[in-house]
Amino acid sequence: MANIIDGKLVSASLRDKIREDVKAFTEKSGITPTLAVILVGEDPASRVYVRNKHKACLDAGIGSIQIELPADTTEDELLSRINALNMDENVHGILVQLPLPKHINEEKIINAIDEKKDVDAFHPANVGRIMTGKYDFLPCTPAGIMSLLDYYKIDIEGKKCVVIGRSNIVGKPMALLLLERNGTVTVTHSRTKDLAAVAREADILVVAIGKPLFVTAEFVKEGAVVIDVGINRTADGKLVGDVDFASVEPKASYITPVPGGVGPMTITTLLRNTLKAAEKSTYEK
Ligand code: NDP
Repeated sequence: MANIIDGKLVSASLRDKIREDVKAFTEKSGITPTLAVILVGEDPASRVYVRNKHKACLDAGIGSIQIELPADTTEDELLSRINALNMDENVHGILVQLPLPKHINEEKIINAIDEKKDVDAFHPANVGRIMTGKYDFLPCTPAGIMSLLDYYKIDIEGKKCVVIGRSNIVGKPMALLLLERNGTVTVTHSRTKDLAAVAREADILVVAIGKPLFVTAEFVKEGAVVIDVGINRTADGKLVGDVDFASVEPKASYITPVPGGVGPMTITTLLRNTLKAAEKSTYEK
């Protein structure tokens, strides 16, 4: 039987601390850390994410500005919105909810966000800082996973870590963070040969592919720590991860459920990053 890594519990405890830190910062500086979130179009999943971010900000004492734009917003219109937020000194964090409609170049949009307000840490300057280990912001999901591992005192040093998935927002930064903590890291992807055998080497297995219940017991070594990043909705509306929890859980030592594992941690890191952006803009001018 695995220990269940309870992302709701960990995130509630971290958010209590963030709320206290926000309060202390606001009392001292007179400034309310503020996050602006831009949503373009009607994607239902994105709407839910944006709503959850808004609620989480308010609960932490962080100001939340939601900008909802129609699906036919032009790239230039979006760029000029971002520019206005870049210039607004009452806004400390800017997040553009992805994915964007096809006619808008995501890379151009990410590059337009002031790197000091880039609380998602997707701007190439911030990605580069993660590469060198001298960063201000970490991307929300991988940093949230590191917080989970730390909370459960799961040692990374010297451990074999296998990351399945190499996206810019999860897989690659996850690999870098595990490496920074002295894990021995293998990154795998859709062209990896005999993926199950590679995954079975892992002491810590992080799965971020977006394929429901893809990782079964044959991918997992007895006693491994299994982190499931996937969020997939089945035909009957149920949320499932990339890991087949029922078959993997008996073999794992620790495992994250979906929902209630990694998911809540992503927004928690976003709150921390927004506070950090406000602190830096106030005290490091
Ligand atoms: P992407 O689609 O950007 O990347 C998926 C990665 O998985 C790619 O590197 C791809 O390989 C790899 N992959 C796809 N199929 C296979 C396969 N059969 N075998 C091995 N590797 C495969 O996804 P994201 O990283 O953005 O997201 C992954 C999952 O995590 C999704 O379910 C997403 O919803 C979820 N997610 C959850 C978050 C949370 O807060 N919990 C936050 C962000 C994402 P290749 O590069 O070769 O194509």
